[in-house]
Amino acid sequence: MSTPTIAAIETSIFRLPMVGELRWGSQSALAEARHVLVRVALSDGSEGVAEAPPRPTIYGETAATIVAIIRDELAPRLIGQPADTAWARIALIPNNHTAKGAIDMAVHDALARSAGRTLAEQLGATRERVRVSYILGIGARDEVLAEAERVVAQGVRVLKVKVGRDWDDDLARIRDLQSMFGDRVDLYADANETMVAADAAQRLAVLRDLGLHYCEEPLPVEQVRARAALRAQTVLPLIADDSAFTVRDLQRELELDTFDILNIKTPRTGYTESLAMVELARRAGKGVMVGSQAGSTIGAARAAVFAARAEVEHPSELSFFLKLREEITDRPLTIVDGWLSVQEALSVRVDPDRLRAMTLRAP
Ligand code: MG
Repeated sequence: MSTPTIAAIETSIFRLPMVGELRWGSQSALAEARHVLVRVALSDGSEGVAEAPPRPTIYGETAATIVAIIRDELAPRLIGQPADTAWARIALIPNNHTAKGAIDMAVHDALARSAGRTLAEQLGATRERVRVSYILGIGARDEVLAEAERVVAQGVRVLKVKVGRDWDDDLARIRDLQSMFGDRVDLYADANETMVAADAAQRLAVLRDLGLHYCEEPLPVEQVRARAALRAQTVLPLIADDSAFTVRDLQRELELDTFDILNIKTPRTGYTESLAMVELARRAGKGVMVGSQAGSTIGAARAAVFAARAEVEHPSELSFFLKLREEITDRPLTIVDGWLSVQEALSVRVDPDRLRAMTLRAP
């Protein structure tokens, strides 16, 4: 049987209110989730959906640019073409990471349905559950600790603590978390490129001595020699995120040997490029974790299925939905003692009524 072609691609912008803001890096913040739902229909009637989360300070995309690039450049390259060639066609357009990523995930979702397979089978993902982490942003002490307490009560057992605006404050927050949770909760840090080469190794040693497991992107991405030198000192395992947006970035980072664990975010590399990145990382002996790029439940579900691949051995960022007050899905995802069920992730559907209620109408 020949591969179905892509018949239609539709987008809708929806808005989900959050419980407080997420603050990270030197000045980034997110106050509400305003994401784009991408639907792909194939010539045999199969449909797939995925979520594109605009992150202007990371990728330069907004909800409006995602809708526009899909309408003006990506959809015209795909309509009428075999669905299994989608990524190769849209990869010709640079940047626009989450627009392309969502199309690719929705195409895989549709292809799985077309073939009568689960998305997990489509992706070669065999684990039954995935270990999750929660991103704890920068903020006032009381708010951050209350948030940590709330999400740990909801099943989270790994916290990724954003650091980088005030080192003493960061350390105080980490000590507070440790005295609250003891060894019930594992911690690691994400510095979002805010350290300086002169004392990064010393700061990593402090984090290591506090018992943190890893640090994500301690130094500015462009300081390639300093980053390679820091990795060579093996103070604390380093996670690549900002430095590895694409497979091309990853090839450069592997040449330079700047990291230990790769954070693959399916919203920015779709499934096709994420699979290629897993394979490159595996061959180089690097660890892998998966991120949902602060997606809502549908985005977390799509990332969670990918995180069920056997190579993904580190906790994956799949719990941002705990920060949302509303959802567009027919059911919630639940975290049980630090784990998320892949079966649950596979069962999540977009609820048409909820989507309609949350959709932003054009003015
Ligand atoms: Mg990061």
